[in-house]
This record gives sequence, C-alpha cells and structure tokens, in this order.
Amino acid sequence: MVSINLTKEQEDYINAVYELQDTLGIAKIVHLSRILNYSPGAINDEMKRLEKKGYVIRIPYRGFRLSQDGMEVARITVRKHRISEAFLFHILDVPWERCHLLSMEIEHSISGDLEKYIIEKIKDNKKCPHGNSFDINEDTKDLRLVDAELGKEYTVKRISYEESSTLFIMRSYGIIPGKKIRVLSRDKHGVMVSTENGDFHLEGIYEMAVRINE
Ligand SMILES: [Zn+2]
Repeated sequence: MVSINLTKEQEDYINAVYELQDTLGIAKIVHLSRILNYSPGAINDEMKRLEKKGYVIRIPYRGFRLSQDGMEVARITVRKHRISEAFLFHILDVPWERCHLLSMEIEHSISGDLEKYIIEKIKDNKKCPHGNSFDINEDTKDLRLVDAELGKEYTVKRISYEESSTLFIMRSYGIIPGKKIRVLSRDKHGVMVSTENGDFHLEGIYEMAVRINE
C-alpha cells in the first residue's frame, strides 16, 4: 500500500482525476476546474506537483490519468469520499445533490475507527447516494447511454461525474439511481432520453456520466 503524503486539497484532486477518468477516460483541465472550483491556471500548477510526486501522468494535448500509485491513493480517498456522502445522505438527510460538495468538508477526517462506526450505522449501503461503489474496483460492469438499445427500458445505476451543477440537473431530470430511463433517439450531439420526469436531451459529459443496468 502506498503511504499517502498529500494535502487535503491534493486528495480532492486525485478524486476528481479518478472521477473524470472513470467518466471520459481522461481528466481535462477544464473539467477539473469545474469540479474543484479553481482557475485552470491553478489546476495546472497543482497537477504539475502531483505529476512530480508520481501520482498522475500527463497525456500531451489531452489531459491527465492516474498512475498506478495514483490509483492506489484513489482507492482509499474515493472510498472515504463515498462513505462520507452516504453518511450525510442516510444519517443527516442531506439532499442528494448536495452530498458531494458537503462531503469534501468532512471526508479527510474519516479514520479507520470512524469509518467502522459509519459503516455499522449505514448497514447494507455499499454505495454513495449517486450509486458509485465504496470499492472503486466494483464500478466496472455497467453500460453507458451510448451502448443502450433505442426504446429499451433500463435502470439508472450511477452518476459517475459528481460535479454539483451536474447533480442538480440529473435530479431535476429524474436521472437518479434506481429510476427507469429509455434512450429515444441519438443525434450528433448526444441522446434524447425519457424518464419519469419527461424527455430530455443529454450531451457531452452529461451523456457520459449516466451509467445504466439492463
Ligand atoms: Zn457520490
């Protein structure tokens, strides 16, 4: 196991890179800037430091990916993030779309003992409120909207991109884990989906963020 020698802020960066890599295959500065709420210049500087420490790899002209050490850190820090989100959602009744941002205030303090008490309290929940598993290795077997058969009904499994405004949009569209969703049509920009709340057009990272189950 790698020893984590990172600031709280750098842990947030690792989580954000993981989330974007999971959603788009790569973390671009523009999206990191949106998730972390810093300017692209500030993001670039911090990414240089993380690159030097060996946690991220720069792919020229495309963005960043986590190195093997970075993935090892993400396995621990993403887990802390998701457990604290579940704690906020199930125990403190924090609204679904606000758990992500508020979790960033407490997740760094989740120690082994505290984690044990939270896990006991939230019982059978092994996922964050957005459907992402505490164990990142379990997030692999799901479909994307791009793979969906037109007209077929699926269940929303998870929202992999937890940026706040995205979560607000998903909530208002009724795209939350456990809800039904159908892809009505595709065009060059994205997909038209139908949910309990109506018909909506999803494109770019919004389309990529929705994972579904048969
Ligand atoms: Zn979450």
